[in-house]
This record gives sequence, C-alpha cells and structure tokens, in this order.
Amino acid sequence: MLSIKRVPTVVSNYQKDEAADESVGCGRNCLGACCINGARLPLYACKKLEKSGAGEKLVISHEAREPPVAFLESLVLGEWEDRFQRGLFRYDVTACETKVIPGKYGFVAQLNEGRHLKKRPTEFRVDKVLQSFDGNKFNFTKVGQEELLFQFEAGEDGEVQFFPCMPLDAENSPSVVAINVSPIEYGHVLLIPRVLDCLPQRIDHKSLLLAVHMAAEAANPYFRLGYNSLGAFATINHLHFQAYYLAMPFPLEKALSKKMITTVSGVKISELLNYPVRSLLFEGGNSMQDLSDTVSDACVCLQNNNIPFNILISDCGRQIFLMPQCYAEKQALGEVSPEVLETQVNPAVWEISGHMVLKRKEDYEGASEENAWRLLAEASLSEERFKEVNDLIFEAIGCSNQEEELEGTIVHQQSPSGSVNQKSNRTHGGPITNGTASECLVLQ
Ligand SMILES: [Zn+2]
Repeated sequence: MLSIKRVPTVVSNYQKDEAADESVGCGRNCLGACCINGARLPLYACKKLEKSGAGEKLVISHEAREPPVAFLESLVLGEWEDRFQRGLFRYDVTACETKVIPGKYGFVAQLNEGRHLKKRPTEFRVDKVLQSFDGNKFNFTKVGQEELLFQFEAGEDGEVQFFPCMPLDAENSPSVVAINVSPIEYGHVLLIPRVLDCLPQRIDHKSLLLAVHMAAEAANPYFRLGYNSLGAFATINHLHFQAYYLAMPFPLEKALSKKMITTVSGVKISELLNYPVRSLLFEGGNSMQDLSDTVSDACVCLQNNNIPFNILISDCGRQIFLMPQCYAEKQALGEVSPEVLETQVNPAVWEISGHMVLKRKEDYEGASEENAWRLLAEASLSEERFKEVNDLIFEAIGCSNQEEELEGTIVHQQSPSGSVNQKSNRTHGGPITNGTASECLVLQ
C-alpha cells in the first residue's frame, strides 16, 4: 500500500471571501462574462526559467531554492485540501485502494470505481486530433470559481511573486490552476493556459512552455504534468494539462532508452526500450525553452498528421516523454482484444506512464504486470508505424538524418526486462481517414 502525505491547509489566510459575490451573475459563480466581474484569485508568478542544460541538476543552492519550492507545493496542496474539505470532488480519492503491482516495472494499480460513473461525458469524435472549440460543450469557463486554486504566470524576474488576492483580468486571459473534480491522486490539478481565450485541446509552443515552467517551479520530481490529445483520451476540448504528486517513479520513467538523435539546440531524443508503448524521450538542450520548443514542434507535427498522443513532463521539466498512440482508432475498428476492452480502462497519459486506474474490483485484485502490459500494448503504434511517425517528427524538427541511430547508447539504470514488445504485423496508427462520424465515433 502507498501512503499519501496529507498536508494541512497552510494558505487559508489567502482564501477569498466568496459570500459577497453570490447575488450577481448566473448564480453559479462561473468564469463566463456573467460572473467574471470582480472575481479574484491568488496569483503565483514563478521565476524566470533557468538555463538548465542536460543532466544538470538544480543549479541554485539548496537554501536559495527551498522557500519557493515549498511554497508552490503548499499552495497547490493546501488549496486542494481546502476544496476537498468543502466537498467539491465527485468522490474521495484518498479512500481509493492503491498498490504497486509486483514485478520488474512497478506498475501502480488503483481501484477507482467512482470515476467513470460520475465523469463528465465526452461528446466529440475521437478520430480527429484537432477540433475547433465549441462553447456549447462543457469547457472550463463553465466551472465554478471555487474550483480554481490560483492564477499561474511565467515570471520575467528572478524572484517568485505571490499576490493573495488578484483580480481575474478578462482582457488579459489568465492561466489558472484548478482542481480536477475526478482526481486520480491526492493533489490532482489542471493547468488551463489562458482559460478565457477558449483554446481547443491542442499543443502550442507557449502553452507547453508554461507547463514545463510549472514542473520546473514545483521542483519536485514526484510532481508531473501530463497531456492527452483528442483521440488519446482527452475528455474536454479546452486546452488543459493535468498534474499530481505520486511519490514514486513511474515505470515509463524507469524504462531503458536508446539515443536516436541530438538536435542543433542540444536536445537529445531517445526511444524507450522494453516498454509496452513505443515512446520518445526528449531531454537536455541549451535551455528549457529549447527542450520545450522541440517537443512542441513534434506535437504540432503529430497534430497536423492527425496522430493522437500523450505527453508526460517529468523530472522537474528536464525530461519530456511523447507517446503517440492508436488505442481509440483500434477500438473504433473493433481491433482491441475483448478482455482488454471489458476493463473499460482508457489508456491516457497516466495509465501509459504506468499508473493504472482500474474500474473493476476483479481487475484490481487480479492486477499483474502481464495484464498491465497487455492493456498498454494495445495503445502502442506498431514498430513499422512508429518508425514512420518518427521520420515525420524528425523532419518537422529539422533532424531527418538518422545516422546516429547506429551508435545509440543505453541510458538510465534499470535492467532490461526479458519481455519484449510482441511482434505485430498490423500497422495501426496510420493516418486516420475522414470517415463518417457513425464509423468512427467512440464514446469514452
Ligand atoms: Zn456565470
């Protein structure tokens, strides 16, 4: 069993007096034009990104680093705990059973029977990675302001700035951190870039950089941000990242990797070895912005080619995993094995990273590394398709020369597993044709 560290509400001094606003707007105290006037929320403006290069660990001395580190963590967890006490979540995630599945990889299984029953329904097609924003569907401007924790800004200064009670400026759309009302772990939050601009779920350079910024600022390797594209189990078409603390390495992070190329800006791109989902790892670079921009270029390429994908931002923003996947496509084509389908588990970023959120007690009780592997392998591109996709990516980032592949070196510690990705003669994850909705629509 994993224990969960609970923290007291340490920032309650900063809480807003919400009673004053109750009589105005639509009555739900939302983020729409009806209610935004006069709304206030703490603002956390982080330090300017450091020039942190490959493999360099924290450059600032421990003493200098500590106060802001503890502060962002306290802010996230303290505000989250406050919303928990106020009963804003759909279920109590702290009551969900969790265990580490025995085996080499250390997959984590959680039994979460409430999540899928009470989830906001998905109402858009899953065969298109890019879809325009639809204000009539659920989006984050419709949440109650009580679900927001604070505004988050990438700072221009060397210092963290915090304003306990800052007006929400509708003219200058703020990026906000909100609770995920269907959490899968303690402290599960959403980062919503420029929430009032109503951006669709689509990676752009500025937004990914903001997410990397948050990972760097949190300065805790157990705090990761994740992203699901449409078609890779995003359930809301309004740009957002997820994040939570899990005090152990994800199996994905421990996987062996082999270097493929290094970009001109020094970003090293590797492929994971012996992991059920074929994935790329980006790390290093002359600056964190180089790293972030390279990953953004790759994501834009995937988006333009209609290839669904997930992203995990790890190691305080120094490592970014990119996982193209084809589960929804296979599901729509009836090609996922029935045993896997019956679990109703959607392999989104957390599952692919190795945190299996299981919906049925029997799957939790019978959880094994083999079962986790089999489920995740269904999401992976075939070897052949993965190569094609890599070629597209390398071309997009100006590195189509793959000569270096031959001199790839193994990094990371863990010993390789005996189990190897099963050979597949199917080529899933090919360009998705524009079928009719009735052919391709899958309700998640
Ligand atoms: Zn309203």
